Amino acid sequence: MTWKLTKSELDNQNLLIDESLLSLGNGYLGVRGNFEEGYTSGYKSIRGTYINAFHDQTEITYGEKLYAFPETQQKLVNVIDGQDINIYLDNELFSLFEGNVISFERHLHLDAGYSERIIHWESPNGKEVKLHFRRFVSFVTRELFAIDVKIEAIKNVDKVKIVSRVNGDVSNFVDKGDPRVASGHAKRLHVSEVEKINGYSVVKDTTYVTNLEVACVTSTQIVAGEHSYTHDVVDDSVVEEYVCDGKDSIQFTKYNVYTDTLRHEEQIVEHAIAILDNISKKPFEELLAAHKLYLDDFWATSDIKIDGDDELQEGLRFNLYQLLQSVGKDPVSNIAAKGLSGEGYEGHYFWDTEIYIFPVFLMTNPEIAKNLLMHRYSILDSARERAQEMGHKKGALFPWRTITGPESSAFFPAGTAQYHISADIAYSYIQYYLVTKDEEFLRNYMAEVLFETARLWIDTGHMTDGQFRIDEVTGPDEYTCLVNNNYYTNAMAKYNLLWAEKVYQQLKEVDSDSLNVLAERIGLAHEEATEWKNAGENMYLPYDKKLKINAQDDSFLQKDRWDLENTPEDKFPLLLNYHPLTLYRYQVCKQADTVLAHFLLEDEQNEETIRNSYNYYEEITTHDSSLSYCVFSIIGSKLGYNEKAYRYFNETARLDLDNTHGNTKDGLHMANMGGTWLAIVYGFAGLRIKETGISLRPSLPEKWNSLSFHLQYQGRLLRITMDKENVTYVIENGDSLTIQHHEESVELEQGKPVKLSINK
Ligand code: BGC
Repeated sequence: MTWKLTKSELDNQNLLIDESLLSLGNGYLGVRGNFEEGYTSGYKSIRGTYINAFHDQTEITYGEKLYAFPETQQKLVNVIDGQDINIYLDNELFSLFEGNVISFERHLHLDAGYSERIIHWESPNGKEVKLHFRRFVSFVTRELFAIDVKIEAIKNVDKVKIVSRVNGDVSNFVDKGDPRVASGHAKRLHVSEVEKINGYSVVKDTTYVTNLEVACVTSTQIVAGEHSYTHDVVDDSVVEEYVCDGKDSIQFTKYNVYTDTLRHEEQIVEHAIAILDNISKKPFEELLAAHKLYLDDFWATSDIKIDGDDELQEGLRFNLYQLLQSVGKDPVSNIAAKGLSGEGYEGHYFWDTEIYIFPVFLMTNPEIAKNLLMHRYSILDSARERAQEMGHKKGALFPWRTITGPESSAFFPAGTAQYHISADIAYSYIQYYLVTKDEEFLRNYMAEVLFETARLWIDTGHMTDGQFRIDEVTGPDEYTCLVNNNYYTNAMAKYNLLWAEKVYQQLKEVDSDSLNVLAERIGLAHEEATEWKNAGENMYLPYDKKLKINAQDDSFLQKDRWDLENTPEDKFPLLLNYHPLTLYRYQVCKQADTVLAHFLLEDEQNEETIRNSYNYYEEITTHDSSLSYCVFSIIGSKLGYNEKAYRYFNETARLDLDNTHGNTKDGLHMANMGGTWLAIVYGFAGLRIKETGISLRPSLPEKWNSLSFHLQYQGRLLRITMDKENVTYVIENGDSLTIQHHEESVELEQGKPVKLSINK
């Protein structure tokens, strides 16, 4: 049961949500869980196929445009629709919204990586049919989206007509009432080619402004059933028609192959044809089996097993599966806030990647994690340019939201002002180094990113009375903007600066040639490293002596507290019901801010301060951002607030499955999905990765009987199994290692499990 998500509702609200939940993807291509035949009128659908990073550019219109406001915005484009299949029983069109649906169910198979729809339907004129749709987006051939359909006519059917279309006339979704979704610029593609080549349907589209091209080349193969065939080009679609005898069992497969000019050679149609020549000879089952092997490998080391709660197990696997489906695996792509499951946040990449998603892949699939870092490295030049544009003499300012580098955030207080993203990226580079000890990576990429981000802090902040201060920035909490000395930002910048200096010294000692080449390339003077150290060591971190907590920023604690208790339910999320200035004037948090810093940089403060901060900020946090719960769960675990940690974990694990934020229809909440994993591994198991190695402080939620998972660490594969009394550590593959269990050092050797009491 926990490997399968099942849905059988047919009302409009649920269908929209299911389109996101049953979306399929492979990091390159993503398809929402739409019905092949579409919906009949009155039912809304967000019909979507996306290619990671495939975007157009739109103008941002401001009432008052000030200096260095971004003029354009990138936007993920809904590409050519290859899903379209209509089935006629004699002349009656199959539709789930007419006639009699005798049975209907849909499943998403998390282990085998496909979705299916099983239908028993009676038409208004009494014709009866059983239909079985299966579809997958291949992990083996990333360009392939295949649909297989079996049709079994049961009663009164003479002829079955199948109409399969590839449609180039597509638009994006818009919603004027929700700032988290685009409000205009729906149509971004024009059709540049529609034809039949070598029996294949070919559609090519081009974006309006970026001039990127996408092709969909399709072959529909009838596997069983006698048939006649015709095809036609109708407007912007290629339409194929098959007429089969209703007495036969009919089966056909539609192979859609997508290529685009961001990744493929110029001749994208020829490229797709070459792929299709090879693929379309293979039966659906064979392709699906190869695809499943990829997933077998993934689950063998990435699954987390919970014994004692099937609903949470389902949520956890679903979230991991969707992360894998959405994460970019090539140099031009990253992971969008909604993955490839919808259009919310327009396909942009945020800090969600580094703080919430990257760690999952780092500890389970380091190659995928590395790709995320390489994507950021590829936009370093844009970040340098943006820093200049923002008036900085040196350094790199990463964009708050982007696809290929340019800042795409139109609302600077909760956009560009979130300078912390540059430190978050630096933090993820450091984590990667700690987990892989990849010296070559440090030399070739990490040093440069750390140096350029450190330079940004030097240029943004200032030394006053012996303390380094950073003014006029926004921390993670978007209900408090443009402040001086946001604790999170300052603490992360400090880490960034001190690590930049450390890496500088390390390279100077062991590889001064590489350092000199880099220094020359980026015009780095020796004194800069000293400045980084000085600024880092003297970083001002706001602390309130009376409350014994870290203040979120210089002015936060002087404000009135928002009266959350008397705020009506229907006023949440606050961002949809109050002007930003109203929110900024109160102590109220959209999401974890200082508490997040206590997780990422726990050694900055003692446990008492962390506890006080947690208690304080918990009372004023709305969790209107889905990025919040997991942090409260992790620190809840650290502080021994087991019941709370569990409650917050529950919120993350099923957030999309239960649509608790109300906007799952616009796409899945990827950062929160990563947060589910973090809440288990960093929360319940208490993992920390530091220069001294890895440590764990496990505690098992009361309701569970056991929990087990794998971690990849410096070339080793570790397995950790927790039950109510004990935890067992074993190296399944790799060299011996010393880890910390609570405060005790434990020696581990390959193949020799070590069992310890779960408590201290
Ligand atoms: C959150 C941001 C996040 C963005 C995209 C916003 O609601 O406040 O922290 O980066 O969503 O997920």
